[in-house]
Amino acid sequence: MDDLFLKIIDREVPANIIYEDEIALAFEDINPQAPTHILVIPKTHIPKLSDADSSQKDILGHLMWATGEIARQLDIEDAYRVVVNNGAKAGQSVFHLHLHILSGRVFSWPPG
Ligand code: 5GP
Repeated sequence: MDDLFLKIIDREVPANIIYEDEIALAFEDINPQAPTHILVIPKTHIPKLSDADSSQKDILGHLMWATGEIARQLDIEDAYRVVVNNGAKAGQSVFHLHLHILSGRVFSWPPG
């Protein structure tokens, strides 16, 4: 399976890993779009959010919880944005589900 983020989980591709548990891994984005830019991924191969099935609800919930845990650890819990790009037309470029955590600058609304 050609999955870049599985290779990061397996330490075949290096990354600056900042959080790990039995379900999730988080690491710094290689091309940060904010002073803090973290990717939170499941250890299970789910290509995109809309591919998750009902048996994976706990994984999705865990990922959302993990964003808060990571934000607390980084001391950004009062101001961060979570983004999921779902599908190429929505900007997804890596097809292993990931939640972007962005913080450290002002974010406009609506998003671009
Ligand atoms: P997407 O565009 O799919 O929502 O987000 C993919 C993210 O993965 C991008 O922000 C991109 O910079 C990041 N990325 C792509 N390749 C690598 C890599 O090899 N290492 C790390 N740490 N991030 C990557």
